[in-house]
Amino acid sequence: MTASIAPIKQSSSIRTNRGSYWITTFGCQMNKADSERMSGILQKMGYELAKEELTADLILYNTCTIRDNAEQKVYSYLGRQAKRKKLDPNLKIIIAGCLAQQEGESLLRRVPEIDLVMGPQHANRLETLLNQVDNGHQVLATDEQHIYEDIATARRESAICGWVNIIYGCNERCTYCVVPSVRGKEQSRTPKAIKNEIEQLASIGYKEITLLGQNIDAYGRDFNVGEYNYSGQTTLSYLLEYIHDVKGIERIRFATSHPRYFTKELIDVCSNLPKVCEHFHIPFQSGSNKILKRMARGYTIETYKEIINYIKELMPESSITADAIVAFPGETNDEFEETLSLIEDIKFDLVNTAAYSPRPNTPAASWPNQLSENIKVDRLREINRLVEKTAKARNIRYKDSKQEILIESINSKNNSQFMGRTRTNRLTFFPRSSSNGKSYKTGEIVNVKINEIRPFSLTGSLL
Ligand code: SF4
Repeated sequence: MTASIAPIKQSSSIRTNRGSYWITTFGCQMNKADSERMSGILQKMGYELAKEELTADLILYNTCTIRDNAEQKVYSYLGRQAKRKKLDPNLKIIIAGCLAQQEGESLLRRVPEIDLVMGPQHANRLETLLNQVDNGHQVLATDEQHIYEDIATARRESAICGWVNIIYGCNERCTYCVVPSVRGKEQSRTPKAIKNEIEQLASIGYKEITLLGQNIDAYGRDFNVGEYNYSGQTTLSYLLEYIHDVKGIERIRFATSHPRYFTKELIDVCSNLPKVCEHFHIPFQSGSNKILKRMARGYTIETYKEIINYIKELMPESSITADAIVAFPGETNDEFEETLSLIEDIKFDLVNTAAYSPRPNTPAASWPNQLSENIKVDRLREINRLVEKTAKARNIRYKDSKQEILIESINSKNNSQFMGRTRTNRLTFFPRSSSNGKSYKTGEIVNVKINEIRPFSLTGSLL
């Protein structure tokens, strides 16, 4: 199947002021990147960013449904806006993202004040859909969609670090995960389209890019062999080499990986490409092979450890982060203990943890052996305690070390400080000028001596 992505015709000129807008984004980096693009489309249509949510003429909630609490949060926000709409019928309410895709028409029945319900695959079509709303329609856009390359310039949060989508959707079938049913089948962007976007970012001063995909290591598998990589399959390794020479870009990151597709070849390529940063986010989800089987993850703990060991062999300084789910249906205490011992074995820099949350249209949600809330709370508390302990222990290696930091911005909580990250993705704060009074600016890469460590951040001084 060839996922050819073609640009669509959008009106060229910026329209006159059409009012103000506000976007609230829930969930993952993919949603953040989608929101940046939708913000760019609204600005191109003539909307201006509102000063605050409650004064905006157009409200867009870009939603998440990965867990039940993310879903409930959206309804509380929606209730507030529905009340506003009763007082101001011109208010436009848009629900985008994964919950919109999952609930579709039932959302319009539940909150009739909503004007547009659009799934993630429709993000680039916001202008077309909003024009239908302006023509007096209530619009539902959740049909399967080829994702077009958008030409509206994303309105990005950072002026130094940019998200670049490379593959949308996921073809895996993890039994707890709602993503395939709400984000659809994998659609890889062409290497050329990706490189164009990165070159465009470099031309306006971006220094770091993060390549994004739900299952990023599967990049290109929806292309035919030789289609873009004339010597074989187009893969993430091929793409990293293909984009590595873009002038101006100093750092390359990518997320989110899947152990099933994290190959030795990819690790070799990462260790040979200087711009690829030594931070790898590889969710393991459970430390028990029995649970991994029931999750349909497609790897074992032994293969997972092999990947991590090979990374550490080639890039000993690298940081490894992951995601883990506790209290999956039927998880015994012993299987939970296996997850804890894996964390102790590998000593992760960080693990994002969550208690299993049954999701609509996922196999595991209907399984009989669901665990109680008490067990979920207890296991979450225990794993978080261990994660903080191992993260702190891992952080000790930074003490008194010299770290290369990309200055991303001024610390919003203390403007005498800059903030940035190490190549291993550790947040770092340091004074804006060095002892010899030399001053620096965002986008520069500087050397910082680390004086103080905390579980999830570092403090230092300019060298
Ligand atoms: S790889 Fe599994 S967990 Fe990740 S998005 Fe795909 S189905 Fe969900």
